[in-house]
Amino acid sequence: MPYNEPSPLEVKVLTRRFGLADSASLDTYLATGGYEALKKALGMTPGEIIEEVKLSNLRGRGGAGFPAGTKWGFVPRDSARPKYVVANGDEGEPGTCKDRLLMEYDPHQLIEGMAIAGLAVGAHAGYIYVRGEFRYIIRILERAVEEARGRGYLGGNILGSGFGFEVYVQSGAGSYECGEESALLESLEGRRGVPRIRPPFPAVSGAFQSPTVLNNIETYSAVPAIIREGGAAFAALGTPRNGGTRLFCLSGHLNKPGVYELPMGFNLLRMIHEVGGGIPGGKRLKAVIPGGSSCPVLKAEECDIAMDFDSLAKAKSMLGSGGVVVMDEDTCMVQAARRIMEFYAHESCGWCVPCREGTNWLRRLLRRFHAGEGSRSDIDLIGDVARNILGRTFCPLGDAAAMPTIAFVEKFRDEFEAHLEGRPCPFEGRRREVPAP
Ligand code: SF4
Repeated sequence: MPYNEPSPLEVKVLTRRFGLADSASLDTYLATGGYEALKKALGMTPGEIIEEVKLSNLRGRGGAGFPAGTKWGFVPRDSARPKYVVANGDEGEPGTCKDRLLMEYDPHQLIEGMAIAGLAVGAHAGYIYVRGEFRYIIRILERAVEEARGRGYLGGNILGSGFGFEVYVQSGAGSYECGEESALLESLEGRRGVPRIRPPFPAVSGAFQSPTVLNNIETYSAVPAIIREGGAAFAALGTPRNGGTRLFCLSGHLNKPGVYELPMGFNLLRMIHEVGGGIPGGKRLKAVIPGGSSCPVLKAEECDIAMDFDSLAKAKSMLGSGGVVVMDEDTCMVQAARRIMEFYAHESCGWCVPCREGTNWLRRLLRRFHAGEGSRSDIDLIGDVARNILGRTFCPLGDAAAMPTIAFVEKFRDEFEAHLEGRPCPFEGRRREVPAP
């Protein structure tokens, strides 16, 4: 995937090698400070590494925002079973496209972060689980693993330290559900990717029923900078409780869509206008999905907000996986809700009834509505069905489908009313609409 022009407002920590010639090679990595953090970590105790990650206020970049250092601290040190480090590269949330860039342009940064995580929790093997569609990235990762092993940065005796760590690359098969950590582990072990009943959580019983630390690609990619520069320096880049930078994927109605690395807490309106170049044609902003399709939509007047986990939670939305989808005044919110539900109904694994049936009913209702065949009672029915999915499913996909739908209906009820009983979509003709499949 080509990398967009960087913005002068970026703070490039994880993406600082993007744009360098052959940025994925070991030589480029070593010439730019690569594997220095691993050398430093080899002289630290596991407890010191975990404390440094805690100090950084690094929160999981996959969507949930759980503090990474705390998660690593849950792995029992006295377990007799082998321990594992797993990197979630199954990036599939609509609107999100940053993990693939980190894997493509800087695979050694990820490998170094995983090896440091291995040192911290006492693991000697790690798996990178990559979305099945990213075949070209799998080749890049495998080449990087070979290079690292060939020069002693992976293997049985890393840099003569006596510590051994291997990394294996595993392909998924293109299922959104396998981005959920326990479904990912099922798939990693060769079974159908459906979630596990928890507890036990992966820290205690994860890959191969063994203690496992499982984080997103971006989370591990931040670890070398944290160890190299210190946790406090990383934390200082962001806001209290939300350390560092993060990769925001700006898409939708923008002059300069792309992936940009910005400090946590960067203002969303500035992101749209100063980083993303504003809205084409001078149109007005209508709404933003701030963190990928599962996050409740924000109305334009809610967008003067700091982009960090806590500020978005206060606004009853989420920072999620960093997929910022910008919608201008000509966007039909019924159509947007329908497109999102088409995705979730298709991706539901079918294991639990509220998600399997609910997403299908919502898809039918929203299709009907957008075709101008909805009734007034259907507006409440859409919200009602979505609320009956919420909190009643095995994995977060049910909530991911329900939450944006509830927000669309509550915040843009007038647009649903404008589609009632035979009235054509008021936005039809303003832009090319994508027909229902
Ligand atoms: Fe499967 Fe949906 Fe239930 Fe998750 S919520 S287990 S995707 S049916």
